[in-house]
Amino acid sequence: MAAYDPKNIFAAILKGQLPSHKVYEDELTYAFMDIMPRAEGHVLVIPKAPSRNILDMEPEDLAAVARTIKKVALAARETFKADGITILQANESAGGQVVFHTHFHVLPRWNGVPLRPAAQEVEKPDVLAAQAEQLRKALDG
Ligand code: 5GP
Repeated sequence: MAAYDPKNIFAAILKGQLPSHKVYEDELTYAFMDIMPRAEGHVLVIPKAPSRNILDMEPEDLAAVARTIKKVALAARETFKADGITILQANESAGGQVVFHTHFHVLPRWNGVPLRPAAQEVEKPDVLAAQAEQLRKALDG
């Protein structure tokens, strides 16, 4: 497996070199809106520590990310009145991974509504900002 590349997009987001719509942050994890959402309210949860994916990630970071996923999933269900939540995570190109900093997709789902294809359309920044704000409020409450 290739080494972690510190120049990946999510590393730049963590360093504040690229903008993101923040949903949640703690010592070990960061959650933000996916810019090409496969569902309304699509959030990415990442560890702050560098790793390509679950295959080279520290178990402590995986545990921290799992805790954040649970928080975000509950907030997303409430915010978007979702019937369900899908969690997706890809490892290496063969596993469907495109960005090589570990990330988990939290996808609100509604009965009868299929996921959109990946990387299809960039969402408007004001839509993502409003969704992130709603999620932050739910997480604070
Ligand atoms: P993967 O296919 O690696 O599991 O998922 C990568 C995800 O990153 C995709 O859902 C894609 O829409 C998202 N993405 C790609 N570039 C950016 C970006 O610059 N900002 C944000 N917020 N998401 C991105």
